[in-house]
Amino acid sequence: NKFEQLGLNESLLLAVKDLGFENPSEVQEKAIPLLLEEDTDLVALAQTGTGKTAAFGFPLIQKIDAANRNTQALVLSPTRELCLQITNELRNYSKYEKGINVVAVYGGASITEQAREVKRGAQIIVATPGRMQDMINRGLVNITQIDYCVLDEADEMLNMGFYDDIVSILSDTPEEKNTWLFSATMPAEVARIAKKFMESPQEITV
Ligand code: AMP
Repeated sequence: NKFEQLGLNESLLLAVKDLGFENPSEVQEKAIPLLLEEDTDLVALAQTGTGKTAAFGFPLIQKIDAANRNTQALVLSPTRELCLQITNELRNYSKYEKGINVVAVYGGASITEQAREVKRGAQIIVATPGRMQDMINRGLVNITQIDYCVLDEADEMLNMGFYDDIVSILSDTPEEKNTWLFSATMPAEVARIAKKFMESPQEITV
């Protein structure tokens, strides 16, 4: 099992086993060791279905400090469906790691209930940009201490008109964090976000 050579800890290897993943996909093989070993920004060109969720999700789970209740990571995704899917995946990845809470924040559902969940402790928030911006405006989330920000399907988010929300949300996060951007394509707006918010990112193409 080649997952054992990527640097994943025991609890993640157990989760991989439960998921039935036999070998890492190409994006996983490239991204996981890199993200585990280096504090780096990353631009990964990868389509959906390539296993990109685990490519950022495994390192993210391993790097979160379960003993710290603050929000340490923000994952932005274009749609409610993807947001829920990523949340579900991250919960599966972290099932042998006690104390990691992953909370989904998306439009079209009760903001009060989502705020309550965040308040109970959310080391990782997986959000759609519109609702996230709304929660920030109302003072219902605090992302001023995050160490990691993942932009998933960045091209889709920008296609949907989330440029201003993304810029505003990222401006609320610390400069020292690491940003991991995943996109199927690299249109000008995605490049603009990368240039504005990332520092010498490593690049992966699959
Ligand atoms: P994603 O690109 O993250 O949406 O993943 C696409 C699908 O591939 C999901 O159903 C994953 O559960 C599955 N998958 C991800 N990585 C692997 C792997 N290494 N081996 C087998 N299936 C995988």
